[in-house]
Amino acid sequence: MYELSLTLSLQMTTNSLSDTFGRAHNYLRISLTDACNLRCLYCMPDEKVISTPAPKLMQADEIEGIARVFQSLGVNKIRLTGGEPLVRKDAADIMKRLSNLPVELTISTNAVLVDRFIDCFKQSGIKSVNVSLDTLNAEEFFAITRRGDFKRIMENIDLLLAHQFKVKVNMVVMKGINENSVIDFVKWTRDNPLDIRFIEFMPFAGNAWERDKVFSYAEMLELISRDFEIVKLEDSHHDTAKKYQVSGYSGTFAFITTITEPFCGTCNRLRLTADGKMKNCLFSSTETDLLKPWRAGEDIIPLILSSVKDKKQERGGRFDFENIENRSMIRIGG
Ligand code: SAM
Ligand code: SF4
Repeated sequence: MYELSLTLSLQMTTNSLSDTFGRAHNYLRISLTDACNLRCLYCMPDEKVISTPAPKLMQADEIEGIARVFQSLGVNKIRLTGGEPLVRKDAADIMKRLSNLPVELTISTNAVLVDRFIDCFKQSGIKSVNVSLDTLNAEEFFAITRRGDFKRIMENIDLLLAHQFKVKVNMVVMKGINENSVIDFVKWTRDNPLDIRFIEFMPFAGNAWERDKVFSYAEMLELISRDFEIVKLEDSHHDTAKKYQVSGYSGTFAFITTITEPFCGTCNRLRLTADGKMKNCLFSSTETDLLKPWRAGEDIIPLILSSVKDKKQERGGRFDFENIENRSMIRIGG
């Protein structure tokens, strides 16, 4: 009996995508595009950014084929991201193709176009949608995203809830820009079954990150605790978020503490950029091109395994955030 349970637990903690630190990777985030219909200043810093031409992006059949290879190696969860995944013309086709794989399929979106995809989400088996929203104030929203779709996004969040999707709302908290909205988001969870995630502002190419602009987990917790009686909820093993709830409220809130309390020890994530480069960490300085060998008909499994084995213990091996060299977030896929 003991031997059986030991074997089972070992099977659950290792797979073909285990790295040298014993972390098994079962979660793949696939970016569909580096184009977007918003211009969030922490993500797409350059207003006139030129997105990658379509032929250089993975095509729908290539995404499906490469995703199948990852699935055969142990991936059982795929998140579609971007850029804004829903601006891609064949987004619905890609979702339907991936829905044939035995994986949990999810998506991160800014929700501008969500009303056009409700049926597609359902047909593709998507049950949970992550929405980016950094303020509940229309003017502040315009200042952050440099676009004016606030009302439509709010309506689309209601629509998702009305259709019984699980909705997580991601807010990037930046000191001096939107930290006061944290309280509005906590109030929003009173009558709505939303999971809000407050994300510490992270550095990426060109986003003018400074340590002083990070509104830390400790500061957020202190701010919220002044006004609300909160309880700590249990976090699951691979959770990147530290979960809380105001006593008696419908929704929850959580903190993603990449800067002040990194959670790399339980990381189970791998990334694929829209142009087919594998990144073993959000902050990795190296990438592995999978698309070119895939198009040449080569076996990409050795490349994937080698990238996993090269994964560094923490934050891509980089601790000097002030001088970070990386793609901008929009070109990685958050
Ligand atoms: N367009 C979709 C969206 O906005 O949800 C998907 C792509 S977006 C790059 C994915 C996530 O990355 C979003 O939740 C966004 O808030 C987060 N993100 C982007 N830049 C960030 C930064 N500098 N620090 C922390 N999170 C960031
Ligand atoms: Fe677009 Fe999402 Fe980046 Fe905002 S965070 S610019 S919505 S990709």
